[in-house]
Amino acid sequence: MGSGALVLNATYEPLCVVSVRRAAILVLSAKAVCVADGDGILHSARNALPVPSVVRLTRFVRVPYRTHVGLSRRAIFARDNWRCVYCRGPAETIDHVFPRSRGGRHAWENVVAACAKCNHTKGDKTPAELGWRLHSLPAAPKGIAWRVLGHRAPDPRWADWLDLREAEAA
Ligand SMILES: [Zn+2]
Repeated sequence: MGSGALVLNATYEPLCVVSVRRAAILVLSAKAVCVADGDGILHSARNALPVPSVVRLTRFVRVPYRTHVGLSRRAIFARDNWRCVYCRGPAETIDHVFPRSRGGRHAWENVVAACAKCNHTKGDKTPAELGWRLHSLPAAPKGIAWRVLGHRAPDPRWADWLDLREAEAA
């Protein structure tokens, strides 16, 4: 029950991720139809329903276009593919490219995923001062997948509806 369900608009545009329970209620109340099942069966007093993995709303809802993706630790790791931007090793920390202690901003353009070793070595220096290069320039992620992927790992069953490569390249 942990992964949640992807909600699509009537137009198949991804909208958000909700709990499996919430998705089941949408299906049972005919507000949505299940388009991909997850694992297992949900039982309620009257119904048994396959666990929904992707549901589509039966009526189109107009949503304001969200231009801003929340800056979370998880979203930063996802944007940088869980790799250190300095050495490409597995990232386990967040680094401010221009150090916070020297006025660096906590913003998409200045935060990157980094391994503990690079982060420690870098300290409060800038990459230029160390002669380091970033493997990719940090930027705010773009693309539809980011509306729903900012805070969770995607369920592989959602791939048909989300352009995951777009998210990685962003
Ligand atoms: Zn590193």
